[in-house]
Amino acid sequence: MNKIIPFSPPRVDQQMIDEVVDTLRSGWITTGPKTKAFERKLAEYCDVLSVICLNSATAGLELMLRWFDVKEGDEVILPAYTYAATANVVMHCGAKPVLADIGEDFNIDVSLIKSLISSKTKVIMPVDFGGWPCHYNELNRLVSETKGLFVPESSTQKALGRIMLLADAAHSLGAVYNKRKTGTVADATVFSFHAVKNLTTAEGGAIVLNFPAPFKNEEIYRFLNILSLHGQNKDALAKLQKGNWKYDVITAGYKCNMTDMMASLGLVELSRYDTDTLTKRKHICNRYAAALKKKQWAELPIQKNNEKESSYHLFALRIKGIDESTRDKIIESIFEKNVSVNVHFIPLPLLTFYKNKGFRITDYPKAYQFFSCEISLPVFYDLTDEMIDTVLDAVISSVEQHI
Ligand SMILES: *Cc1c(COP(=O)(O)O)cnc(C)c1O
Repeated sequence: MNKIIPFSPPRVDQQMIDEVVDTLRSGWITTGPKTKAFERKLAEYCDVLSVICLNSATAGLELMLRWFDVKEGDEVILPAYTYAATANVVMHCGAKPVLADIGEDFNIDVSLIKSLISSKTKVIMPVDFGGWPCHYNELNRLVSETKGLFVPESSTQKALGRIMLLADAAHSLGAVYNKRKTGTVADATVFSFHAVKNLTTAEGGAIVLNFPAPFKNEEIYRFLNILSLHGQNKDALAKLQKGNWKYDVITAGYKCNMTDMMASLGLVELSRYDTDTLTKRKHICNRYAAALKKKQWAELPIQKNNEKESSYHLFALRIKGIDESTRDKIIESIFEKNVSVNVHFIPLPLLTFYKNKGFRITDYPKAYQFFSCEISLPVFYDLTDEMIDTVLDAVISSVEQHI
């Protein structure tokens, strides 16, 4: 029997192994010079001053909510169609996630947000689904137009004077919106470097800081460093410097720093991200699109137009007119042909925890419709043209067998 084609294995080659070994041999394996170098490279890549690296995107989203003093009684607007992490961090802060349905591009429907904004709204968290940037111009306009409704309750909220736009860009490193990379189109943007994401550090994430004046993003960076490391005013490396052992703790901080082991992977991955990773992912998606656009039943994901270009994180295929059970049968037969596929995402209201919180899927018809007929195809660096053909054969024959 043929070996199964996986969905999204990480690219691990000699260059990555060498860089990790170099870190192991250096005598410094936790947060240190490589993490700081990776932060600088990411900032350069996004064309901003300050990026902080952490152990996950989830930690990044939560730190930003904590920095903005989001607490019980507050509301955070996010799409119903996302991974649970986006909503879970709101729960961690004791605040209430307010869900909006999606539009034709899988992203939060901005026209639905306005009626969800109240005096309790502190943050909007759009998600760049599959690497496709949201309508950031409209989102930025919305948070500036609703200043009058905003009720600031802390010093950061007073300084911003409006709803914070916090982008869950877990999928969209390197995506382009109006000639700008994601990272510079929201107040703060959080990337994920989890093993299945476009650029991986095994686990990991980063916050890109892009706050307007009077904020100084370097100052926010320094505070987030402390917040991510127990609230301690010196990190382990600084404490090791001669005579520098004394430290203070200024807040009951968290523990979510990135290690130099992780950053080693990130440095290699970032050095070839545009030239190698993105070009390959684009090639794979274009091959899928070229073959599938001939099929009446196929609804292809949008990945490029005059305004935006995706980071090609997912190839989210939809099959016209099918229901959830037919989709599941198609997936079963694709797997029988030794090809791995996935579904992005199970909408939040279908998950037990959020169902028990009172969310009803009938309030998010588009999210349910897209989920019911969606199949994500494998996209990863080592996927060869021959494997792409195998995937296409498996998908096409399985769909045509069931519709
Ligand atoms: C992967 C993912 C996250 C979480 O990223 P971690 O780095 O695993 O914390 C958040 N949001 C979305 C949309 C994701 O796909």
